Amino acid sequence: MGKNGALNGEGTLNVAVIGAGPAGYYTAEALTGTERPVNVDIIDRLPTPFGLIRAGVAPDHQSIKNVSRRYEATNQRDNVRFVGNLSLGRDITLAELRDLYDAVVLATGAGKDRPLGIEGEDLRGVIGSGAFVGWYNAHPDYKDLEPDLRVASVAVIGNGNVAIDVARVLAKTASEMATSDLADHAAGRIHGAPIRDIYILGRRGPLEASFTPKELGELNQLENCVALVDGTQLPDASIDSSLSGAAKKNMAAMRAMATNSPDAKPVRLHLQFYRRPMAILGDKCVCGIRLEETKVEDGKCVGTGVTEVLPAGLVVPCIGYRTSPIPDVPYSERYGHFENESGRIADGLYCVGWAKRGPTGTIGTNKPDGVEVAQEILGEVHPSGKSGRAGLDQIVQERDLHIVTFQTWKKIEAREEAGATAGAPRKKLVDVSEMVRIAES
Ligand code: NAP
Repeated sequence: MGKNGALNGEGTLNVAVIGAGPAGYYTAEALTGTERPVNVDIIDRLPTPFGLIRAGVAPDHQSIKNVSRRYEATNQRDNVRFVGNLSLGRDITLAELRDLYDAVVLATGAGKDRPLGIEGEDLRGVIGSGAFVGWYNAHPDYKDLEPDLRVASVAVIGNGNVAIDVARVLAKTASEMATSDLADHAAGRIHGAPIRDIYILGRRGPLEASFTPKELGELNQLENCVALVDGTQLPDASIDSSLSGAAKKNMAAMRAMATNSPDAKPVRLHLQFYRRPMAILGDKCVCGIRLEETKVEDGKCVGTGVTEVLPAGLVVPCIGYRTSPIPDVPYSERYGHFENESGRIADGLYCVGWAKRGPTGTIGTNKPDGVEVAQEILGEVHPSGKSGRAGLDQIVQERDLHIVTFQTWKKIEAREEAGATAGAPRKKLVDVSEMVRIAES
């Protein structure tokens, strides 16, 4: 029996949440936090829970990852189950899940990189942030990415926190990453790389950047790398007093960077504004990027027609993500997420988190999202005697699927923790078959 007294009886609402990331867990928490009898199965194609907490949040930001303890507590409820290594489309169809459960919630995030839409984007050495971050975070999909980091100069496109994460992880030394869970395969390449210049390129100005102050400020604290800003790109200091809290802190950090000496440390991290990518250059591999100088008019980026070439052997566009479409689920090509009204897609079908609103906000933004969708479900979906988890278990058995439960995931977690080097929280496993073997051992 669960916290809210859910039994798998006739009056129980059966809900499947697809995606075990923050949005999925907050939805499950809200669904099972009332007196209503509700069973929730949180289904994920990976054998590991927590989605972006594990594979998106930067490996050196362990304190942010602590939020997973809250999701663990949700998973301790008897009426919440994690069903890992079960892939929608491969192992079971959405139609089958909708037959089994009273409601299905798509919490599938936004796993595809948004394209830049410019020439040269397919050259070797151009790697979107989804893939690059997944690679250094040991996401199984990207374990074989093998980016060539034997380059002197890297261009990171975009002025958001993901661009900062990518630049910082490339810039930090092995000792700075000693307490992180950076993937082993990435540590070897990153710490042996001859990178000397990292450029974070913004198509608009410093006031339009979407960095958060804590993340921007960290760039001024790196052991081996000095952050640089061209002071002529910053607005006149007289505007600082009129800026809001976050913008004011960002501006202070950037003004400090403008006084740094390029020779202060061996690696230079350049924040360059008013530059938009026009083409990525190279034959088979990228060797540079053509940028157009821009200005900002009414908040919009406007080209000036003046161009320049920035040499770069690696280009990492960090310009946002798109949700992967699912057959028969209405999808907005324009916004890159499921068509929905406050999370509702169709009768008994919902979405939440980035799959609902696009790739914006912090981890915590998903909480009100999850509450909203849970309230809608509790308000309009009624138990209809569907078989829920019993029906899913039957399919799992019939198809001989090797699912991972929360209890068996704990074996994977224990193996990762036992393998960690001193100071590190875990040594992440990257191979799904190996993880499933450990779970079943
Ligand atoms: P973001 O904050 O939306 O930044 C995307 C950047 O890409 C913007 O600077 C945008 O410029 C630029 N861009 C978009 N299309 C472009 C193009 N065609 N050419 C050049 N630049 C282009 O997104 P994000 O960095 O991917 O982060 C996603 C969300 O996760 C954000 O809410 C972020 O705060 C959050 N996050 C948080 C943390 C943290 O708290 N530590 C870490 C990582 C991510 P314009 O502004 O001009 O459109």
